[in-house]
Amino acid sequence: MSLVRLIGAEFRLMAQRSYSSAPATTKMFIDGKFVESQTKEWIDLHNPATNEVISRVPKCTQAEMQAALESNKKAFKSWSQQSVLSRQQVMFKLQALIKQNMGELAKNITTEQGKTLADAEGDVLRGLQVVEHSCSIPSLAMGETVANVARDMDTYSLVLPLGVTAGIAPFNFPAMIPLWMFPVAITCGNTMLLKPSERVPGSTMLLMELLNEAGCPPGVVNVIHGQHDAVNFICDAPEIKAVSFVGSDTAGKYIYERAGRNGKRVQSNMGAKNHGVVMVDANKENTLNQLAGAAFGAAGQRCMALSTALFVGEAQQWIPDLVERAKKLKVNAGHVAGTDVGPVISAQSKQRINELIESGVKEGAKLILDGRNVKVPGYEAGYFVGPTILADVTPDMQCYKEEIFGPVLVILNADTLDEAIQTVNANPYGNGTAIFTTNGATARKFVNEIDVGQVGVNVPIPVPLPMFSFTGTRGSFRGDHHFYGKMGVKFYTQTKTVTQLWRETDVTHTQAAVAMPT
Ligand code: NAD
Repeated sequence: MSLVRLIGAEFRLMAQRSYSSAPATTKMFIDGKFVESQTKEWIDLHNPATNEVISRVPKCTQAEMQAALESNKKAFKSWSQQSVLSRQQVMFKLQALIKQNMGELAKNITTEQGKTLADAEGDVLRGLQVVEHSCSIPSLAMGETVANVARDMDTYSLVLPLGVTAGIAPFNFPAMIPLWMFPVAITCGNTMLLKPSERVPGSTMLLMELLNEAGCPPGVVNVIHGQHDAVNFICDAPEIKAVSFVGSDTAGKYIYERAGRNGKRVQSNMGAKNHGVVMVDANKENTLNQLAGAAFGAAGQRCMALSTALFVGEAQQWIPDLVERAKKLKVNAGHVAGTDVGPVISAQSKQRINELIESGVKEGAKLILDGRNVKVPGYEAGYFVGPTILADVTPDMQCYKEEIFGPVLVILNADTLDEAIQTVNANPYGNGTAIFTTNGATARKFVNEIDVGQVGVNVPIPVPLPMFSFTGTRGSFRGDHHFYGKMGVKFYTQTKTVTQLWRETDVTHTQAAVAMPT
């Protein structure tokens, strides 16, 4: 066992051990080491299935955040000058290590976030695919050349890193979203200051352990914790050149504006309200299963969850069958075998979800499946909400206007495909949508006319693999370049263009040329 592995084992023990009644603390990761914060302000981290406090997360002090940033700055000098192949090697090793530690990462995600173990493995796997994609960055970050732009003159461009970058992540994909950020940023030659969600920092810490073991030099990625102060530090630090954010609208707009005002590049992925449009010519069995999975899987806490269904015309007769499927889903703690729907992230989140369901009822929607009073034996203190369906919802209702982010499906009716398309396009969000049909012409019309960045045809959650980019649009995104794919590389790099003149014969200039070179 290597030294880093031993340190890692020690870290894991520390994360699990509790001293008397005090839970273990989450460390910072600075300069390749796991460091205890000296802060006096801590956030309790609860297991959502049990309500137990499982760790305390520091709100890092200004001095600690500054130390992390200094370490990133120092590391950038050498990391950016390393060969592209040596940076690629770190990704190859990280890829193998994540695969080996998949089970442990998934367990940590289930404990901190609540999702089922199978879903937690999916969370890691979708992030792992970005690590694999990052192995191709040496080819993606190539410049261009034109020889002989003038006599004896060539122009070529170099694709170069920006410097220190930063990532701010949400709670719902504890491994995948940090993995959308740091692998691409660092393989391009940047360093990164990462702030995971204070509600699920554990898998990021495990990933840092693996990054150490993969041979990544100290300071290339540093991890700080906290809430607003940490976010403000990132938005304001002049040395941070680019900020990647994924999370809610409130935070995303704030970060986009504050970091943007400070001259930084920002990519900000925000909330969503994704519609599944069901045509009567669809494969009924398959469509209803896909819809139930995409609405209630991960307890609806996916930015690409199909949280809204639009049944067109006679397809409305299928709604009772959808309710039957949803009723069969098992609500339980994420680590219990056979669980379909785990808890939501917090007591506040459960309360908010229940209030939005109630608002739907008050505004005239029909509550055809009510998961508010679900009981989970053995986990009475957990934050559970069972699958819930509100039918006859209209666009003016609160439960339609707000992202619920829980296991709640709202159903709207449409008489025609045109009406369904109009409803989707009138919604301010543009993250994802899907149509279920067996008619190619219907599918084509939908793809053509729908104003949403990620479209599924008989695919409920159309998140593209990382050779493409995650292309949410309208209210779901602010920025120019999306996460991962070619756009991810563009986001984390800048271009230097060189125009060079090497005369074949030594020419003596007799006079300065003052006109604009053409
Ligand atoms: P969140 O905005 O509460 O938290 C995200 C990050 O921002 C955290 O690190 C948090 O510390 C920080 N933060 C929270 N409130 C802040 C504020 N007011 N000002 C500054 N920083 C703040 O989001 P969440 O609840 O962790 O995640 C769920 C949200 O993320 C949902 O809206 C979901 O749709 C969205 N999401 C979007 C995508 C996407 O790609 N579009 C992917 C995953 C999640």
